[in-house]
Amino acid sequence: MKIDSNKVVTVTYRLHANLPAEEQKHIETADQSRPLKFLYGVGMMIPGFERGLEGKGSGDSFSFTIEADDAYGSTDAAAIIDLPIEIFKVEGVIDFDMLKVGNVLPMTDQEGNMLNGKVVSYDEQKVKMDFNHPLAGHILHFSGEIVEVREATPEEMDHGHVH
Ligand SMILES: [Zn+2]
Repeated sequence: MKIDSNKVVTVTYRLHANLPAEEQKHIETADQSRPLKFLYGVGMMIPGFERGLEGKGSGDSFSFTIEADDAYGSTDAAAIIDLPIEIFKVEGVIDFDMLKVGNVLPMTDQEGNMLNGKVVSYDEQKVKMDFNHPLAGHILHFSGEIVEVREATPEEMDHGHVH
């Protein structure tokens, strides 16, 4: 069976991106013990990833490169913002183990959404945080193998995810 819309696809993959060493740990891979299973063609995956797998069948291997625009987009300058240093205080004291340049911190926006921000720099008044996806602006290279391709059940298609 070939990969197409409304198929449930199971793959293993390795992702390579040209990242600084401290950011490599954020890169996910899916090996035989924890393969990635997803419903193809519903927009769950980055567009370039689905395009790279189109038409392949179980047992096929793959290796392709995705430009940033087809992956996590380019770096958005508007997602790099200054925050008052007060919000990093815990009981009036700044925790400098947490507030370190390069550290990725879980934050909450005004609507209560969780998002990760990377500390870019800080001074006595403000902290510059980068809320771009860690892979934004990066060319990604995926390689791996198709483990299984099967028809999605009507219920899976209805829900838009794999059961
Ligand atoms: Zn469901």
